[in-house]
Amino acid sequence: MSAVIDLKPMVRSTPIDLFIGGSWRPATDGQRIPVLNPATGAELVSVASGSVDDGLAAVTAAYETGPGWAATAPRTRAEILRRAFELMTERAEQLAVLIVLENGKILADARSEVAYAAEFFRWYAEEAVRGLGSVQTAPSGRNRIMVMRQPIGVSVLVTPWNFPAAMATRKIGPALAAGCTVVLKPASETPLTALAIAEILAEAGVPAGVVNVLPSCRSGPVVRAMLDDLRVRKLSFTGSTEVGRRLLTVAADSVVSSSMELGGNAPFLVFADADLDTAVRAAMVAKMRNGGEACTAANRFYVQRPVVEQFTRRLACEMGDLRLGSGLDERVQLGPLVNAESRQKVARLVDETMDMGATARTGGSPVDGQGFFYPATVLADVPPGAPVLSEEIFGPVAPVVAFDTEAEAIELANDTVYGLVSYVCTSDLTRGLRVAEALDCGMVGLNRGVVSDPAAPFGGTKQSGLGREGGHEGLLEFTESKYIAVQW
Ligand code: NAD
Repeated sequence: MSAVIDLKPMVRSTPIDLFIGGSWRPATDGQRIPVLNPATGAELVSVASGSVDDGLAAVTAAYETGPGWAATAPRTRAEILRRAFELMTERAEQLAVLIVLENGKILADARSEVAYAAEFFRWYAEEAVRGLGSVQTAPSGRNRIMVMRQPIGVSVLVTPWNFPAAMATRKIGPALAAGCTVVLKPASETPLTALAIAEILAEAGVPAGVVNVLPSCRSGPVVRAMLDDLRVRKLSFTGSTEVGRRLLTVAADSVVSSSMELGGNAPFLVFADADLDTAVRAAMVAKMRNGGEACTAANRFYVQRPVVEQFTRRLACEMGDLRLGSGLDERVQLGPLVNAESRQKVARLVDETMDMGATARTGGSPVDGQGFFYPATVLADVPPGAPVLSEEIFGPVAPVVAFDTEAEAIELANDTVYGLVSYVCTSDLTRGLRVAEALDCGMVGLNRGVVSDPAAPFGGTKQSGLGREGGHEGLLEFTESKYIAVQW
């Protein structure tokens, strides 16, 4: 569990103040947030914690630069985003280390995240110059219906800690491409990555005030004050369903357009005809990417009875072999959870499930010592009604349940308030597509454990969210249609 590099130089070279109107500054009231290293529990550094006044100053900066940025040629906006992609790619290793330090994930996952995050800048650099809008003849034949897409305006972006780079670029990329200016409020656990991205954007040529970054441990009042400010026209939130629901009511007061990327409870279905090598490989990625701390993480495994024992044994074997430790050690395959509360939640879910009769095939109890570690755990014979099947685990725990028929699998999979993603493993493509259509969710992984792609629309149904990020649809979320009835 030893760190292999000296942590301090990396943290010292990273900005730790608020980024407002193109300047770095401390909070008006001097407050700071301690940033902890999840592998040790020790404080890495503290960053400025924005106040309500700072939040409103950031809105002012975004508002004042809005018209200039909206009028900037799409090609210029595209080239700035492209430069940001290149700078992120050049600094990939530094950013990856920063992510490991404040989030705890392993270096391999952090490197993948940086590559994925940078792709949003490249993708939206390409999207920025694609024309939007249409002209058609009205059905009466008397006039034309002209529709243009305009930038929606000042956008407040609120992001979680689990993908500190990608959740920020997935919002900033399309917002800037569409011609919007933004205030980003990153999660208090992981503000350093967001501040490093702000620095990159400024270097790439984003004008002062177009992107403002405001860490704050007073999220509730700061975000409310920004949403109550009539200059703000968009809220793009990624985080838990609980907080998203609360923010929707706040946004309702000023009728602010809201995009919501919320929690998930992904089912992972394995049919008896599946290729088990593929299924186990996909399961490992779907469950263990980011140590299970992903909204897309497989939360419940439903396996057809003839192969349930074989699948469970193989999954337990792979999960049990994972080396636990500090994410900075290249040999480590599972890092700590982000904080003590997350670890407590995971431990509670496992304990409750075992009290109900489930058995741990690997893992099953917390690791002693410093840091927020929990071992990879596979639970077999999980009874219906176990909370681990209905709550978002957000940790390295795989509960396995047997099913008999396709109809039963679909019913079990859809039995949740969430609808983000589902996974299906089968060698029968007809079955795979039929089941994918019947699943009530926004995304399906068919014989694969990763769905995320900057070019694809990411998002969920039911209480997993509203709207989509990524792809062409992600750009439209930051635009408003204007229809002009034209007579000529
Ligand atoms: P969270 O909801 O606790 O926090 C998300 C963000 O909201 C953070 O920046 C936080 O500081 C802020 N926040 C918290 N309370 C607030 C309030 N009252 N007002 C305004 N802002 C507030 O979520 P988290 O723990 O950071 O992240 C984990 C959750 O995010 C999981 O539920 C996960 O599924 C979800 N998530 C979803 C997606 C997706 O694309 N659907 C992606 C990643 C994470």
